[in-house]
Amino acid sequence: MTRIANDPASFVDDALEGFAAAHAEAVRRVDGGVVRATPLALGSVAVVVGGGSGHYPAFAGVVGPGMAAGAVCGNIFTSPSAGQAYRVARAADAGGGVLFLFGNYAGDVLHFGDAQDRLRAEGVDVRTVLVTDDIASAPLAERARRRGIAGDFVVFKIAGAAAERGDDIDEVERLARHANERTRTLGVAFGGCTFPGADAPLFTVPEGMMSIGLGIHGEPGIRDVPRASSRELARMLVGDLLHDVPESRGDRAAVIVNGLGSVSHEELFVLFRDVSAELGAAGVTVVQPEVGDLVTSLDMAGASVTLVWLDDELEPLWAAAADTPAYRKGAAVRTASSRAVAASIASQPEVPRHPLAAPDDRRRAEHARGLLRAAQEAIAVAAADLGALDAVAGDGDHGVGMRAGVDAAVAAFDPEVGLQRALTTAADAWSERAGGTSGALWATALRRLAAELPAADGRSALTPVELASAVGAAVDAVAERGGAVVGDKTMLDAMRPYADALRARATADVDIRSLLADAARAATAAAEATAGLRPSKGRARPLAERSLGHPDPGATSFALIATAVARHLEQNP
Ligand code: ADP
Ligand code: MG
Repeated sequence: MTRIANDPASFVDDALEGFAAAHAEAVRRVDGGVVRATPLALGSVAVVVGGGSGHYPAFAGVVGPGMAAGAVCGNIFTSPSAGQAYRVARAADAGGGVLFLFGNYAGDVLHFGDAQDRLRAEGVDVRTVLVTDDIASAPLAERARRRGIAGDFVVFKIAGAAAERGDDIDEVERLARHANERTRTLGVAFGGCTFPGADAPLFTVPEGMMSIGLGIHGEPGIRDVPRASSRELARMLVGDLLHDVPESRGDRAAVIVNGLGSVSHEELFVLFRDVSAELGAAGVTVVQPEVGDLVTSLDMAGASVTLVWLDDELEPLWAAAADTPAYRKGAAVRTASSRAVAASIASQPEVPRHPLAAPDDRRRAEHARGLLRAAQEAIAVAAADLGALDAVAGDGDHGVGMRAGVDAAVAAFDPEVGLQRALTTAADAWSERAGGTSGALWATALRRLAAELPAADGRSALTPVELASAVGAAVDAVAERGGAVVGDKTMLDAMRPYADALRARATADVDIRSLLADAARAATAAAEATAGLRPSKGRARPLAERSLGHPDPGATSFALIATAVARHLEQNP
């Protein structure tokens, strides 16, 4: 849906005018579209791209060194006119010939074709390469009928890089065709896009379904299937793409996970992760991927996956530098050799192998794992409530973050290596997976706890004094790292009373279970009391007033964990 507009009829011009003004150093507005603000090297090939508008950054956004010399900009989803294409080509021509590149749509073929004839009659060497990457739009045997979608970007990139390094028109045309031959795309739509001024989307996808084989002009996909996880979606898309490959494809592919306009980049990264894993499993090395909105369809909810089967000719061109308003590839990337991404994503990070610990230490660690699992269960049960509590004045992610953290910690906890090492590894895993303030602080607490625990030394139990002192140090570490003090309405408001309660009652002969149960009660009372406080640290601070009357999420989750630990000990002496 379009929310910002003047007259819907002038929408495209208004947008192009704003775009050119915003990127005045990069592009120059001409009748029909835009050209580079800085002239091409004399005698070099002018790559002129184009099509309807509504696909930003295609097409105006990719004008610049290393990509296009000019872009012809039609109305929304409408091919530009022959006159527009002619004028943009004229403005872009540097004497080395013009290469027209656009997606294979009838209107574009006609209009660009007319412009080509006219320019040729005037002595300009013009060539045309159509992009036909969409495997859903026609069978392999009829490749030339396929439409161009995200593969537009690939062909622009390859041809633009070849022109930039000074290849002549024959060579730039040949490489553009070659790139198109080796580029395949398949996408999925979840919902349609809405024209400026319209009040209904161009199409809708039935509830609970997704539409495989989308187009970029508000065309829904060609078959509706039930919504699936990202992994399943990746398997579907990559599976089809691996069945539709050029001859002698090789095993290196550039990959684009493209958003159609209203799918978040985070979702695209999830999909990229799973696409990489699929490709890795198929023995394909992912080279310099792109994840983002490169060829869109207004505000359409959808994504596509493009594979570019690289060879010795294409790979350096794919890797070459580019500098356009919407797409940059820097010198660092230009000099770096291609990276194997799939391999690094498919395999889990290396966990250092530690030697087997002594039996008493392993028993101690086994016991601690039971406590960690009890904490995990408590968080699983409370996650939604913790999220709601965080949403009152924070960002609502505390339940999700705590859950991710403690789950990762349990998974990483290996009793065989002994308590200190297991706990340290678990702390690292917590921080890695949870992120957020609480993730960092819980990891700090667990690391310090591990460091402060005395060596097992032949006994598998800790004394109450040792325990109290280690917990006290862990809480000190949280205070140091977070910079909060008691009363700021943070987790510290529950942690400190807990540590204090342990220290106050820890003697050689106190029962450790009743000690921990008392401390948990103190933490719970303190966490509840935070409802009366205004937060002065963390994300909740800007909405402090709203937070009044609600306990702090971090203090609450700490109290829940303390309670779960005490209960677990009572039930498993
Ligand atoms: P984020 O704030 O990054 O979204 P979470 O939502 O997971 O992270 O955690 C929020 C909790 O973190 C708060 O409820 C509070 O208990 C705790 N917190 C925030 N800032 C601090 C700090 N400086 N010191 C101690 N705890 C803090
Ligand atoms: Mg939060």
